[in-house]
Amino acid sequence: PSATQHTEAATVAAEPASAPAKATDKEIEDLLAQMSIEEKVGQMTQVTIDLILKDGTTTTIDEGKLKKAILDKNVGSILNVREHAYTVEQWHQILTAIQNVATKESRLKVPVLYGIDAIHGANYIAGSTLFPHNIGMAATRNPELVSQAAKITAIETRASGIPWNFDPVLDVGRQPLWPRFEETFGEDVHMVKTMGAAAIKGYEQDGPGQDHTVASCMKHFLGYSVPGSGKDRTPSYIPEQMLREIFLPPFKAAVEAGVSTVMINSGEVNGTPVHGSKYYLTDILRGELGFEGVAVSDWEDVIRLHTRHRVADTPKEAVRMAVEAGLDMSMVPTDYSFYDLLVELVKEGTVSEERINTSVRRILVLKKKVGLFQNAFPMPELKAQLHKPEYDQVSYQAALESITLLKNEKQVLPLSKNTKVLVAGPGANSLPALHGSWSYIWQGTDASKYPDKAKTVVAALAAKAGKGNVISSAVADYKAAANYNVAQLKKDTRQAQAIVLVLGENAYAESPGVIDDLTLDADQLALARAAKETGKAVILVLLEGRPRIVSSIEPQVDAVVLAYRPSTFGAPAIADVLYGDYNPSGVLPFTYPRYTGDILLYDHKGTERIREDVPNTYGDAGFNPQWAFGTGLSYTTFSLSDLRTDKTSFGAADKLQVSVKVRNTGNRAGKKAIDLFSHDQYASITPSVRRLRAFSKVELQPGEEREVRFTIGASDLAFVNEQGQWVTEPGAFDLLIGDLKVTVNYQEQGKASLK
Ligand code: BGC
Repeated sequence: PSATQHTEAATVAAEPASAPAKATDKEIEDLLAQMSIEEKVGQMTQVTIDLILKDGTTTTIDEGKLKKAILDKNVGSILNVREHAYTVEQWHQILTAIQNVATKESRLKVPVLYGIDAIHGANYIAGSTLFPHNIGMAATRNPELVSQAAKITAIETRASGIPWNFDPVLDVGRQPLWPRFEETFGEDVHMVKTMGAAAIKGYEQDGPGQDHTVASCMKHFLGYSVPGSGKDRTPSYIPEQMLREIFLPPFKAAVEAGVSTVMINSGEVNGTPVHGSKYYLTDILRGELGFEGVAVSDWEDVIRLHTRHRVADTPKEAVRMAVEAGLDMSMVPTDYSFYDLLVELVKEGTVSEERINTSVRRILVLKKKVGLFQNAFPMPELKAQLHKPEYDQVSYQAALESITLLKNEKQVLPLSKNTKVLVAGPGANSLPALHGSWSYIWQGTDASKYPDKAKTVVAALAAKAGKGNVISSAVADYKAAANYNVAQLKKDTRQAQAIVLVLGENAYAESPGVIDDLTLDADQLALARAAKETGKAVILVLLEGRPRIVSSIEPQVDAVVLAYRPSTFGAPAIADVLYGDYNPSGVLPFTYPRYTGDILLYDHKGTERIREDVPNTYGDAGFNPQWAFGTGLSYTTFSLSDLRTDKTSFGAADKLQVSVKVRNTGNRAGKKAIDLFSHDQYASITPSVRRLRAFSKVELQPGEEREVRFTIGASDLAFVNEQGQWVTEPGAFDLLIGDLKVTVNYQEQGKASLK
C-alpha cells in the first residue's frame, strides 16, 4: 500500500518555551572577535571543583583552585560537586566568589555558566523539598504536576544563583535492570515526550533568563537507556527503525518545546560512541531536529573515546573527534587535557578556528539568554523564593497521585486506624529508600542530609494512626535491616493484626546501582514468607526505582502498593493511601515483569495474548507480565462505555474526535487515568500490539459520569517503516481504551496537507 509520509507531530510541544538564539548578535560577535584561541577553548571547558575549604562551620572558598580554573585555563563553565547539599547562603558565597574572579579579574570578564543536576527538585540545596522521581511522575498521568515541579525546581535553583539545570531526562526506560530507570518517565515514548515537554515548559517558559526560570538540558542524547547488559554506560544495540520511532521523538518534542541545551549519551549505540559521532551530533541533532543550543558532553566522556571506546588512538584524537562530531562543551571535569589538546589542535590547524567559533558563539548566546551578561551574581532577594509551603503541597500531591495500588485482595485496604499494625522491612525506617538517587548527595544514601520535614514510613503511619497502633522494628536502614530477621518479625507480630512490609531498594545512582538480577534479594523474600506464616494480613509496600521481581511472594501478600521513589512527602502519602484518606489513582508507566528473564514490553510486536497459566517455557507470543502497563487499582470502581469516534473513516487532513464515557460506580470519589491505545491491524512491518497515543485523567464523585475526549490525527497513528520514514499506512486501526475497542479506517485523502 502507498502511505502518507510525514514528520511526526508533537502533540504536546505546542509553544516553544523561548525564542531561538540569534547567531548574529552584535554584542556576542564583538566579544568573540576579541577572544584568543585559549579563551575560546576555555569557554568550551567545564570543570567540577570543590571550592569549600573544610574548616568547620564557616564557608571559606579555595581561591587558588578557582583562579587556576578561570584565570589560567579560561574555564567558562563549572558544575556541581556531587557530595554536598549546600545551604543557599553557601551557594551564594560560592557563586559570588566564582563570578568575582570571572567578571572582575579575567581579561574579557565573561561570566561563568554554572550547571547542576536538580533532577527531582533542587536536590543540591539543603532543606529543599524533593518531588517523586520521574518514574512516579509518569504514574500520575498528570503532566501539569510535572510542569509545576519543574517550575518550583527552576525557582529554587535560580534563587541559589544557578541558571542551568541538567534535566529533563528523556531516556525511555525500556531496560528495567538499568540503574537509572527511576530517572525515566517509563517505557512508553508518548509518555516520555509528553512529560518531558511539560518539564521543559516548567523550566523555561518565558525564556530561561527570568527569576523563575533556568536553561534546561535534554539528556542523554541518544540511546543511553537500553544497555544490553543492563549495566550503566555499557553498549546498546538499537535498530535504526526503533531508534527513530521510540528513542528520538522525546528529543524532537523537547527541541520544539524550546529546550536550551543537550547532554550526550556516555555510551555507544550499535558500536558508535555517541560523543564521537557526527551522525548523531550533527546530522540528526542539528540537521534533522534543528537544535541550535549548546551540546555538552557527559562526565569525562571525551577522553573515553580513547580510553574506553577505543575509536581514538590518542587522547588528542579523542578531542578532535568529539569536537568535529559537533560537541560544544566538554564536561572534563577534573583535568585540563581537553583544554590543552584542543588549544593545540586549533593552533596547528587540525581543527579550524571557525569550528570552535560556532561552539563558543552558542555558549555565549546561552550565557546571554540566561541573563549572565546582565547580572552574573546571585540575587539575595530571591532567597525569599525558597522553601515555600506551596512547594510542599505540589510534592505531596505528586506523591499521592503516583502511588499505584497493584493488588488489594478481599479489600484488605484501606486499613482502619484502629488496626494494630507491625511496620517492618528495610524500607520502613529509611529516608534514602523513599528518595532514591540525586537526593542532597549524588546517591541519596546519606540519611543525615535529609531535612526534618521528610518522614519515614513508620513515623508517618504512627502520626496518622497513633503510636499505640503502630509497632515497628528498630531497624534504621538497609544495612541494619539484614539483622532484622525472620524470628524477630514473628515475635514482633504477636501484638499486631496486620503487617505492613516495606521492601524494595535502598537508594543508588548510576553504576553503584548496577544489579545482576531483578529478583528481590533473598533476605527480603524470606521476610515476606515469614510475614505470611504469621497468618496476619500482609500489605507489601514497594519503595523501588525499577520493578524488582516479586512473583514468588506476590501470592503470599494481600495487597501490593508501589510507591516508586516518592521523596519528601512520600511517607505521609503512603499513610494516606493505606488508611484510605486518599483514594489511589497512580497507574504503571511500565510493564512490571514476572520473571527476570522475561522482559517483553507492552508495545511489543506480534499477537497480544496474555497468559494466565504462568508457563515455565513459552516460545510464542505469550505475554505474561506480573502487572501490565497501565495497571492501577482504586478504592472505588469505574466503568467505561461508549467508546466512539466522530467518523468511521478519516483522511490525512482530518482530526478524529475520540470519546469515552467514564462512570464512578463505587461509593467514593476517585481519579481515573484513561490511556488511549491504537493498534494498526496490518502494516508493512509487524505492527505493535498496541501503542499509547494519548492519556488523560478525570476525577469523579460516586455515581458521576463524564465523557473524556481526545483529538488525534493521522500522524498520531504513524510508525517508522523499513526505509526509516514516518508513515501512516491506509487501512484499519483499532482504538482501545480499557476493554473497549472501536475500529476506524484511514484513507489517504488530503495527503498533501500533511507535512
Ligand atoms: C550523569 C549526568 C549528569 C552528570 C553531571 C553524569 O554522571 O550521567 O546525568 O548530568 O553526571 O553530574
